[in-house]
Amino acid sequence: RVASFIRTCFQDAARAAAEANANKRKRLNYVAEPYHAGMPASRRRTIQNAFMSGELRIVVATIAFGMGINKADIRAIIHYNMPKNFESYVQEVGRAGRDGLLSHCHLFLDNKGNDRNELRRFIYAHSIDRHVIRKLLQKIFVPCACTKILKNKDLAQELREELKAVNGIDWDDDFEEMAANDTQTKTATTARKRLCPGHEICFSVEATVQQLDIPEENIATFLCYLELDEQRYIQALSPAYTMCKVMSYGGARPLRQAAKECPPLAMAFALDLKRGISHATSTVIEFPGDKFNNVRKRSPLSVKFTELGFRLRAPGDLTDEELDHALDGLYERVTRQERTQLAQLQYISEALNSVCFSTIGPVSRLDCPTGPSDKLKTIVRSYFTTDISKENIEIVPEPDDTTDEQLISDIRTTICRYPENNFTGRAIARLFHGVQSPNYPALVWSRSNFWRSYTKTDFNRIVRLANAEIVRMRT
Ligand SMILES: [Zn+2]
Repeated sequence: RVASFIRTCFQDAARAAAEANANKRKRLNYVAEPYHAGMPASRRRTIQNAFMSGELRIVVATIAFGMGINKADIRAIIHYNMPKNFESYVQEVGRAGRDGLLSHCHLFLDNKGNDRNELRRFIYAHSIDRHVIRKLLQKIFVPCACTKILKNKDLAQELREELKAVNGIDWDDDFEEMAANDTQTKTATTARKRLCPGHEICFSVEATVQQLDIPEENIATFLCYLELDEQRYIQALSPAYTMCKVMSYGGARPLRQAAKECPPLAMAFALDLKRGISHATSTVIEFPGDKFNNVRKRSPLSVKFTELGFRLRAPGDLTDEELDHALDGLYERVTRQERTQLAQLQYISEALNSVCFSTIGPVSRLDCPTGPSDKLKTIVRSYFTTDISKENIEIVPEPDDTTDEQLISDIRTTICRYPENNFTGRAIARLFHGVQSPNYPALVWSRSNFWRSYTKTDFNRIVRLANAEIVRMRT
């Protein structure tokens, strides 16, 4: 009944919108209005204000609405889908009955478990392969020569003199001290004092997103993890452009002149020359660099920065063991998160299924039994007194009779049908589950017959089988 009620309201809203369009004015329906993140901010504000003032009685919304809504007399919250965990559920139903008066919360459960499958997709959207994290770490911890230079007295001396000659700077005596202390600090268990003072590292956001096929936010999260680790692996810095393009409007001369005054530009010339590119007559040069910013105004040169990049300070003298340790730490963290989210989802799904009514009949009657509702409250209370991430909850797979043969056959077909794609096992599993990623956007891939073709099949099983198949097809 509630569902049909909402449906009627939606129709009214659609009709109202159509009428409003005809009148060139978007009036509010004043009974029910939709609200979601895809709407213009102004429209959302109008609806929220109308709801808060009581003019608008019903809002049919996605989770974009609700957070922070503090209206005392909300009488009912109706969930058309299951939330992903009890944290979200409590946050959402907690909007009701803030005035202390009776309010009702209803939730529709899909009896075929489709809600669960749907939510599970979002969890897998964040999962990642170990070797992908390794690739990211390789971008962050670029091997440097600091240790070698400092350990070798001759080299250190050479470098010192070289630098003295170049910059006229007196070399710091701390250098030798640090080298001497090295043997002691190695035994320390906490973040050891490194020989390498750390180097500024900058790598393109877009290129990294494409290479690793994970969203920018996820990469940023990894950088945070590394920074917050007890080892304090890195120091994240504000983003910067990774490429610099200098153009001269006055021929080749001003460009060469500028190189004499600007070391990064001179370096760019030298590096290009090393690769066999001469800039004798160039009026344009493009090079990686973010420190080139002292070109005088009103010069015949134009400086343009492109390719926004992640910027951070990281040491380059990590040992293989230290790198493995960092990798293990990150991978462990992601896997644990995935497990926790799956456990949370399973928990809420089981709990709601254990208290639900199979038909709407009893709920619509005045004498609806309150037992299930009380039971749910008890479950929620106990949920918040246990730390589910530390519990060893067994994740029960969905009942699924897909055979390996069937899966493998579809994996092979997918690989053959899109030969221009360099699939990973995870990319195929995402496709089969209908999970998009930067290189496989839903807009394009949802047209494939394989999109969402195996939403009930265990995600990691597909990853495993697909990886094995990819290796087999390559050899
Ligand atoms: Zn270094």
